[in-house]
Amino acid sequence: MTAPDPTTAWSKCSVCKKPIPYGGAYLKCVVSTCNRKRFQLYFCSDSCWDAHNPGQNHRNPGYTEHLAPPHA
Ligand SMILES: [Zn+2]
Ligand SMILES: [Zn+2]
Repeated sequence: MTAPDPTTAWSKCSVCKKPIPYGGAYLKCVVSTCNRKRFQLYFCSDSCWDAHNPGQNHRNPGYTEHLAPPHA
């Protein structure tokens, strides 16, 4: 198991820590406390998003789909 390479990955999944590549799809929780500027949560799949829900106690859970920016 090697650490994700910061030069090839845009970010990483907040649940499974898999790298999210540049230009790759990722999910964001719609709840505002999961989107603080200094504490953004990103998810590689809906199952990872699903996994964070019980711990966060969301009243209206949901997610939005996004594309990571292309590699500069
Ligand atoms: Zn994940
Ligand atoms: Zn959340």
